Amino acid sequence: MGILLIHPPLSKPCEPPAGVARLRSALHAHGLRSSILDLNLEGMLHLIQEVRDPSDTWTCRALRKLPAHLASLRSDSGYKRFAGYQSAVRDLNRLLHAAGRARGAGLSLANYQHRDLSPVRSRDLIRAAERFEEDPFYPTFSRRLQQALETDSPSTVGFSLNYLSQALSTFAIIGFLRKNFRGLKVVLGGGLATSWVRRPGWQNPFSGLVNFVVDGPGEGPLLSLLNAPGPVKSRAWAPDYDPLPLGDYLAPGLILPYSASSGCYWGRCLFCPEKAEGNRFQPTVPREVIRELEDLVARWRPVLIHLLDNALSPALLGELARQRFEVPWYGFSRITEQLADLDFCLALKESGCVMLQLGLESGDQGVLDQLQKGVDLGVASRTLGNLKRAGIAAYVYLLFGTPAESEAEARQTLEFAVRHSGQIGFLNLAIFNLPAHGEEARNLSTQFFYEGDLSLYSSFAHPRGWSRDRVRSFVEKEFRRHPALSPILKRDPPIFTSNHAPFFVEKR
Ligand code: SF4
Repeated sequence: MGILLIHPPLSKPCEPPAGVARLRSALHAHGLRSSILDLNLEGMLHLIQEVRDPSDTWTCRALRKLPAHLASLRSDSGYKRFAGYQSAVRDLNRLLHAAGRARGAGLSLANYQHRDLSPVRSRDLIRAAERFEEDPFYPTFSRRLQQALETDSPSTVGFSLNYLSQALSTFAIIGFLRKNFRGLKVVLGGGLATSWVRRPGWQNPFSGLVNFVVDGPGEGPLLSLLNAPGPVKSRAWAPDYDPLPLGDYLAPGLILPYSASSGCYWGRCLFCPEKAEGNRFQPTVPREVIRELEDLVARWRPVLIHLLDNALSPALLGELARQRFEVPWYGFSRITEQLADLDFCLALKESGCVMLQLGLESGDQGVLDQLQKGVDLGVASRTLGNLKRAGIAAYVYLLFGTPAESEAEARQTLEFAVRHSGQIGFLNLAIFNLPAHGEEARNLSTQFFYEGDLSLYSSFAHPRGWSRDRVRSFVEKEFRRHPALSPILKRDPPIFTSNHAPFFVEKR
């Protein structure tokens, strides 16, 4: 008896899943048995290798080169030449797409779209469960679950559902379990499941399929559901990646994902789901984070540490800056006075920091203030200069089409980016989605953005006429094509983006 924890398809297959690995560690500390399966990685590798007799030349070529591409993406040499890396990623993506097409799904290495099922409609998810044999990952999950359930005989199966791209396969797997293993309890947790539960008026539409939907971090609810013996220890748990196939991920060695907190210490940005859902900031004490990271590095010898926090707190950044890790690390930071200090950035570099992800969002101070971003453009400018001097790549996120922005402010963002183009390592451009139940939605004229009862976003009439179509046209035709910005956008690793960007930082 115990629990089988599943990371379902589909998410980028470049690092082991942190959520199930952390749960396993918490369960183990309470004397409970668990096993974990990464059906995402296994399913993708199976599908890619299953493609037979493609009709077009490009897919034939991709198939011929498959063993070499897999080997190169798992070795340093695959990241030495950007053109070779791009070609390997695109070929794998082509093969996955071909395999999915044969089963009515649009698959890529980062996304899953179905011809006629939507992950934001509960009735479609229930249909995915009823028609589980049609899911492109069925051959993998049916075989692997049969083996795992016979070997370990768990009483419960838990799913870590974080992205929309995982929802259809998650329900297909649940349908398979319900049909073939009737006595099992099914638990659904993870970021997406939490967002569903936090919708006002939530009523579980999956009651026939799922026994329990977890709201927030899963450790506590799972421990009580499984009747953990003795008192429940309340603390953060270092992930246990041991049972996962660590050599199979598409990276030149192990990328070690580690989360030092849940929620966000800032938690004020108006457009952010962290605020809309009222997620509480729950940090691990910085000294404890450092101790755990040192243990994890000694145990698994990763090539890169990926800090998963929504925003690294100033206290943790300060502690990180005092360390000397043997392994490079990267993560999200807010733009604060801390980074406007060159000596601090130099200390971060010494500690192993190779890249910081910065949510700048806009190059207009009025927009930033209205979004309650808490970012000063003067500080942002000094931060970008300091990071460049320290040798830390800045991966900058910009957000267009917020209610506070019009074309004039979007042009300010363009100008800011051009002025700092020599200091920006990578750029991510996004168009604003309005959280359906956030503070801003109450002040705008809204309607459902997706046709689905599980949709987390609303469309809205832009108060200044800066419609989605106009925003898209500006981003595609002007921003992306600007001669100072286009080279930055082109060096973003295709599909894997920030997950692989640190491997290209020093080679530019
Ligand atoms: S800093 Fe990032 S995670 Fe935190 S509230 Fe703002 S957008 Fe959300």
